[in-house]
Amino acid sequence: MFFFTKPISKPIKYRVVYEYTDDISSQYHYTYTIQLPDNQIQHFTYYIPQRPKINAHSFHKFKLPHDTLNNWGIFGKNLVLTIDDSYNFEQTKRMYQLLREYNITATFFPNTIYINPHNPEHLELWRDIYNSGYEIGYHTTDHARKRSVEELDRDFNTFTDIFRNILQDQSFSIKSVRAPYGYFDRVWMKWVTDNNLLNMRWTMTELEDMDYLRKLYYKQKGRVLLLHNRKGDVEWLRKHFNELIQIAKENGGKTGSIYDSIVR
Ligand SMILES: [Zn+2]
Repeated sequence: MFFFTKPISKPIKYRVVYEYTDDISSQYHYTYTIQLPDNQIQHFTYYIPQRPKINAHSFHKFKLPHDTLNNWGIFGKNLVLTIDDSYNFEQTKRMYQLLREYNITATFFPNTIYINPHNPEHLELWRDIYNSGYEIGYHTTDHARKRSVEELDRDFNTFTDIFRNILQDQSFSIKSVRAPYGYFDRVWMKWVTDNNLLNMRWTMTELEDMDYLRKLYYKQKGRVLLLHNRKGDVEWLRKHFNELIQIAKENGGKTGSIYDSIVR
């Protein structure tokens, strides 16, 4: 049990991590002070404001192509973070916690067969991801290549339904899609276009270094980082996170999910 010594309207310390007026991450840190019953003083911080949940409707205000290829300009100078697959629950959770630590959003591309709807921990993680404004994209239910538009339709609807149940939100819908193994073939692209989706390619993985990112900026190529929910990638991101954010910032860009990176 604790109580606030004062109404919490006035932060004692106020720190804007970035100076962007419309920063995608709204990285404000407030420090509040509480007095515990034994008169001990404790300080704590939390992030505000809450981000809205992201679904297909969130994208309606943008005019977007169906493919990022040759259209990297939709992200301006921003660095887009995308995290694929979900076969490793522990690492998915660690990845999300790391992103929260930095207060940076990302787009997750999970496969639903690896999410156990009877495991409360799984449900809690994906609800946290969604409820805190992180985007969830389509990467098929089972990470298998689909051979026809009909098969993709069915799988996409199943994927969406499963997530609506996991998230307990029947309005959940998807705009961003990525084919497993990057099989952006004719079938996939026809299906994407027919359904007015956004096909999400990438330009960088954990196999590249920070000079590679600088080169992408220099050559004015797209900057979409693809990581997976696996141990090495979580550690890679932890090691390079500050530098990634810094390089984006030096180039006039921000770091975040697909939705948060689209130029307003
Ligand atoms: Zn994948």
